[in-house]
Amino acid sequence: MLILAEYIWLDGGSPTQKPRSKTRVLDVADPKALTLDSFPEWSYDGSSTNQAEGGDSDLILRPVNFVKDPLRGENDVLVMCEVFDAEGRPHSTNLRSVLREVMDAGGDAEQPWIGFEQEYTLFQNGRPLGFPEGGYPAPQGPFYCGVGAQNAYGRDIVEAHTRACIDAGLMIYGINAEVMPGQWEFQIGYRGLEAESADPLNVSDHLWIGRWLLMRIAENYGVMPSFDPKPMRGDWNGAGNHTNFSTRAMREAGGIAEIDKAVERLAASHDLHIANYGEGLADRLTGLHETCSIHEFKNGIADRGASIRVPRPVAAKGYGYFEDRRPGANCDPYLVSALLLSTVCGIANERLGSTDRIRTAA
Ligand code: ADP
Ligand code: MN
Ligand code: MN
Ligand code: MN
Repeated sequence: MLILAEYIWLDGGSPTQKPRSKTRVLDVADPKALTLDSFPEWSYDGSSTNQAEGGDSDLILRPVNFVKDPLRGENDVLVMCEVFDAEGRPHSTNLRSVLREVMDAGGDAEQPWIGFEQEYTLFQNGRPLGFPEGGYPAPQGPFYCGVGAQNAYGRDIVEAHTRACIDAGLMIYGINAEVMPGQWEFQIGYRGLEAESADPLNVSDHLWIGRWLLMRIAENYGVMPSFDPKPMRGDWNGAGNHTNFSTRAMREAGGIAEIDKAVERLAASHDLHIANYGEGLADRLTGLHETCSIHEFKNGIADRGASIRVPRPVAAKGYGYFEDRRPGANCDPYLVSALLLSTVCGIANERLGSTDRIRTAA
C-alpha cells in the first residue's frame, strides 16, 4: 500500500541550522512492519539549502530514525535523515555523525541518558503573542505556568503540539508556560519508561522532530515559533534549552561523586561549550533572569543562577543527574550532546576538529 514519508533533515543555515523536509510516496508491503530499511536513501538540491554549489548540488538523505506522522494518515511517517555527500562522506553540516562517533568512541558504554527543556517564543506580526501592538504587556510575574486569557497566549498551538508529540511516539516529558508572555517549554528525553531509549542520538532526533512538528503545526495558525535565545531586549527572560544529563555511574548509589567529577571537567571546558551552545548566547547569559554570566562558571544545588545545577532531590539521594543551564533555545542537540559526552566522559573526539561547524574555544 502507499504511505507518505516525510523526510526531515538539517540545512546549512549559518550560524543556525534549520529543519527542511519533503514528502516521498512509498509502496510498502505491510505498513505495520516498517523498519529503517523500508526507507530508501533519497537526494535533494543542496544548492538551495546552503550546503552545495549549483554545479554539483545533489546531496544524499540517509534515513536514521522514524516515528509516526501524527498529522497525516494512520500509516504515514516522519523520517529523520543524516546528510551525506556524493562520495558517501558525512556532510560538514551533519553533526549527528559527530555524535555517533563520540558514542562509538566510548560514549555508548557509559549508558548516557539525556533530556532537553526546549523553550521557544510564539511570534505573530513581528512580536510575541501577548505583546500589544506598539507597546508592552504587564511586567513578568503572572505568566510562568499561568492560566487565564490575560496570562497564557497561544495555548491552542501548545496543546495541539503536545498531542502530536504523543501520537508520534516522541519522548515528550511535559510542557509549561514560561516567564515571558508567548513563551513556552516542552521537555523531551528520559522519562522512566522501560521500553524507550533515552540515549543522546534518539533523544536529539526526537527533539528535532518535535521542533519540526511545532513549526509545522504553528503554520496552521499563522504563527512562527522563534528559538532566538533573547527574543526581546530588556527585562524579559530569554529562551534556553536546559540539558539534563546522566551516565549509568551517576545514576547508581554514590553517583554524586561522578557528578562532581563531571562538573570539574565542565568547568575546565567552559569556553568550548559556550562557543557551541547556540548563536547569540551572550545576550541571554547575562547573570540576570535565572542565568549565570557567560564569563563565569558556577555550579550549585537547586541554584537557577548557576551554569550547572544539581537538582535538590539528586543531592539528597546522592545519585542521579545534573542540569546544564547554558545551552540556548537555538542550540543543536546533536552538538550539545556530543560535547557533554566527550567532556564528561573524557573522550577524545578527532572529528570535533574536522568540521568548521564546531567552533574552538573563544
Ligand atoms: P526543571 O525543574 O529544570 O524545569 P523539567 O521538569 O522541565 O526541569 O525537566 C526535567 C528534565 O530532566 C526532562 O527533560 C527529563 O527528561 C530530564 N531527566 C530526568 N531524569 C533524568 C536522568 N536521570 N538523566 C537525564 N535526564 C533526566
Ligand atoms: Mn523546565
Ligand atoms: Mn524553563
Ligand atoms: Mn531547567
